[in-house]
Amino acid sequence: MYRIELDRAACDGIFACLVRDERFVEDDAGLATVDPAADGVVDVDRRDDRIVATFEGNAADAKLAAEACPPGAITVREGSE
Ligand code: SF4
Repeated sequence: MYRIELDRAACDGIFACLVRDERFVEDDAGLATVDPAADGVVDVDRRDDRIVATFEGNAADAKLAAEACPPGAITVREGSE
């Protein structure tokens, strides 16, 4: 289990994340979000400019997306906390 926090205030809509982890998608505002129906996605909680998504499985792709994000808008936290 791991959690991703996406800071939409920091997101520039560059979409380097989408090509590294297909569970990241573009929303109507032209910013990144997480597809709640994608494989391994347990929950997506959207609060104002912050998205917290919980995933099952391996965090490798999510880490690649976080590393590729120029403004550092994606944080990956492993474990249930
Ligand atoms: S790579 Fe970062 S800045 Fe670009 S769309 Fe994804 S979260 Fe937003």
